[in-house]
Amino acid sequence: GSLLSAHDLRKTYGSTPALDGASFSVHPGEVVAVMGPSGSGKSTLLHCLAGIVNPDSGTITYAGRELSAMSDAERSALRRSDFGFVFQFGQLVPELTCVENVALPLRLNGVKRKAAERTALEWMERLEVDGLGGKRPGEVSGGQGQRVAVARALAGSPKVIFADEPTGALDSLNGERVMELLTEAARSSHVAVVLVTHEARVAAFSDRDVTVRDGRAHNLEYSA
Ligand code: ADP
Ligand code: ADP
Repeated sequence: GSLLSAHDLRKTYGSTPALDGASFSVHPGEVVAVMGPSGSGKSTLLHCLAGIVNPDSGTITYAGRELSAMSDAERSALRRSDFGFVFQFGQLVPELTCVENVALPLRLNGVKRKAAERTALEWMERLEVDGLGGKRPGEVSGGQGQRVAVARALAGSPKVIFADEPTGALDSLNGERVMELLTEAARSSHVAVVLVTHEARVAAFSDRDVTVRDGRAHNLEYSA
């Protein structure tokens, strides 16, 4: 069955409808690309699925539990334990070194510093940025920073990674390498990925594409 699903989501900001009956589902280990024009509701859908934004109506079910039935504290605990996030930019804590950034989700889940940084370095090795551990985010390139961000998203052993335009600030070569590393790592660890992008060459790394138009999600073909 599906790990995370949404049914008939509606969300309005003032008089602007952002979601107008959107439905969605993703299976464990599946990479789904959410595509569509700017302003169509992709980010709002992602934020609802991740429990960051509450829809006005509709249901979201994660691992058999309805998100709306949880308290805010339960939803943030779920985000910490089960979800990882990669955004376009500005997500790394500038005061921390890269390895401290990657270790952060483990530290927040109660893992001791040494063990957390050991695991963090393993993920950094996998993302080919293990040489950058002692540097701060401001001292690495955009592509390196995104690999560090992907390592951080994976380090907490999430069940789902939410990625909103994760390569939007990168050139195509770096963007494709980041997508390759992200999807390889996610598939081999059986992590589901909800990937928001407007770029076809980024969506090419998905198992399945969903298009959002005017706040409604439409399934496209299985590309597998
Ligand atoms: P996309 O990610 O596809 O560009 P969004 O989900 O960001 O679309 O936005 C969908 C619509 O909702 C747009 O019209 C946008 O301006 C509006 N919107 C999104 N977030 C907010 C917000 N926090 N406040 C007001 N309007 C918003
Ligand atoms: P994208 O569509 O690439 O995700 P946006 O610029 O549409 O980026 O949205 C970035 C952030 O701003 C999102 O968190 C979104 O919810 C919020 N946002 C989008 N449109 C509005 C708006 N009209 N008013 C306030 N916040 C908005």
